[in-house]
Amino acid sequence: RHVFICGGTGCHATGSIAVKERLVAEIAARGLQERVRVVETGCNGFCALGPLLLVHPDNVFYQKLGADDMPELVEEQLVHGRQVERLLYRDPQSRTPIPLFADIPFFARQMPWTLRNKGLINPESIEDAIGRGGYLGTAKALLDMTPQDIVEQMKISGLRGRGGAGFPTGMKWEFAMRSPGGVKYVLCNADEGDPGAFMDRSILEADPHAVLEGMIIAARAINAHRGYIYCRSEYPLAVRRVQMAIEQARARGLLGGNILGSGFAFDVDIYQGAGAFVCGEETALMRSIEGRRGMPRPRPPFPAHRGLWEKPTILNNVETLANVAQIMLNGGAWYASVGTERSKGTKVFALSGDVCNIGLVEVPMGTPLRTIVYDIGGGIPGKRRLKAVQLGGPSGGCIPESQLDVVVDYEEIAKVGAIMGSGGAIVMDDRTCMVDMARFFLEFIQDESCGKCTPCREGTRRMLEILENICAGRGRSGDVELLEELAAVITDSALCGLGQTAGNPVLSALRYFRDEFEAHIEHRT
Ligand code: SF4
Repeated sequence: RHVFICGGTGCHATGSIAVKERLVAEIAARGLQERVRVVETGCNGFCALGPLLLVHPDNVFYQKLGADDMPELVEEQLVHGRQVERLLYRDPQSRTPIPLFADIPFFARQMPWTLRNKGLINPESIEDAIGRGGYLGTAKALLDMTPQDIVEQMKISGLRGRGGAGFPTGMKWEFAMRSPGGVKYVLCNADEGDPGAFMDRSILEADPHAVLEGMIIAARAINAHRGYIYCRSEYPLAVRRVQMAIEQARARGLLGGNILGSGFAFDVDIYQGAGAFVCGEETALMRSIEGRRGMPRPRPPFPAHRGLWEKPTILNNVETLANVAQIMLNGGAWYASVGTERSKGTKVFALSGDVCNIGLVEVPMGTPLRTIVYDIGGGIPGKRRLKAVQLGGPSGGCIPESQLDVVVDYEEIAKVGAIMGSGGAIVMDDRTCMVDMARFFLEFIQDESCGKCTPCREGTRRMLEILENICAGRGRSGDVELLEELAAVITDSALCGLGQTAGNPVLSALRYFRDEFEAHIEHRT
């Protein structure tokens, strides 16, 4: 038997380390260590229920565990093969226990492609990754494919950047491949900074080799020999596991010189960022790696032509890279077989806020947002009414209940005033004040503005002042129009994406909840 115990940051925070230690001790006390392997995995995805574990092949899922539950769990489940009902997953609406993992709606409606290894491998063991097909895609790309073949498959796959902008990945690689120059770079953006987002951290913690594979294949496509993973230092577990993965890959000839005997050389290092949100912007990220202040610069020139140290560079985020090896292995057409006309494959969301099942969710593109919130997320606690879902973090927008049938698709989500973003989805129930929500996100943006350009630096400050006044009951007639005017000016004149999207949370809140702003100003609430 295998016992997969979640060892992501969320479960560590709720006590999974102590649970695992007790579990191992109880197994040893009964002399079962030869028959039961305990595997500490990365994030399982069902973060609300940690500490949690899955018993395989029994397919039984246990939740909200404490160290003191382990004697009974080991005795009943591992010795006698009987389920411990009080520790099983319970449907939040009916409170009935659901004995088998595959029957839990949270998992049953998902399609784990990017997260294919989550909860199933020890992320600190390259053997576990290889046992699940790791590095097969890399071997195929390096030994059987030309750089042009790799780019072609990426273009066929239709994969678009999962960091938020949705730029076609194959096209980005093609630009860099065609850029002249003997020195090029591949960068991984792991500077996940949106409030409510934890997709990239979870992928790095659960399956770091998938990301390394994506970088190696990207490097082969553009003929780069050096890469950096830019990861925020607030992610210490991710940094540790990625560092271990790099060292293990080097030791097995999967990084460094002559990878897999292909004659191709590529190596990766981690660069830890200090947590500035703006360093997720590609040009600011590159300046930061260069040891300079992380500030955006105008484009063009685009990084594919002049990026890190003025050399051709491609930057992809964690989730994008984690898909690449499977695309090489199965073909671009396989990836493109799922999704909508313009948004292919799957998308990972971090579901949080006023929703029963907080956690990591991966669904095919084209899935209605309502399915994510109700069928996978289990709906709103206490059967309250949904008010809106904030999608795309501080650069995104809110989607009200009336628009919840919008499907996961870059263009369709933009039509309702939000953006896909990196995948943070914060659910808000009917008690949420949308003016206060807009103020919260604008405060975040204002705080994170790097100050380089006046419209963003000063404009967001003025918008925040207006919102603070409205929230404090000091709103004035004309404030709403002024907010709209300022947002439009900042969008048109700010230098980088942070400023250009700064007004989005306010504008989308005004689009659907204008009456709340007016009620505050007129002292009706
Ligand atoms: Fe800095 Fe804002 Fe200008 Fe971007 S838009 S460069 S974050 S001041």
